[in-house]
Amino acid sequence: MDRYTYNCNYCGVQYTPRRRRIQKYCSNSCRVNAFNQKKKIKQLSPKFENPKMQTAKDKMSWSGIGNAAVGTLATNMATSLFTKEENKPATKGDIQKLLTGSAQKLILIKNLSPQFDGSRAYFDTQQQILIYK
Ligand SMILES: [Zn+2]
Repeated sequence: MDRYTYNCNYCGVQYTPRRRRIQKYCSNSCRVNAFNQKKKIKQLSPKFENPKMQTAKDKMSWSGIGNAAVGTLATNMATSLFTKEENKPATKGDIQKLLTGSAQKLILIKNLSPQFDGSRAYFDTQQQILIYK
């Protein structure tokens, strides 16, 4: 009896393969599930180059997605997975920072609540004062 065991590529369970080197999954259902999952991932995100690199946990969340917004969502997820924090798309705040220029930087002070007219507190880094805008 061959005592060498494989780990199922789908559910991770250890099993003794009936077909050495060919078999990747413990059972037919795992093989089919894995196939369907790969197909799904490809459909969701064609740019996703190597689904095998994903952890089992990732796979779970992929299969859990099932609504119409899926395309965008999946792309966003894939993007944020591989995008470093500093390379993420600029937020409104980031753009505002850029627009105010390098000479004068305004930093939104988050723990001061807005004024009655809706203006927020900012710290002016050049003059080192607090202003409302
Ligand atoms: Zn399995």
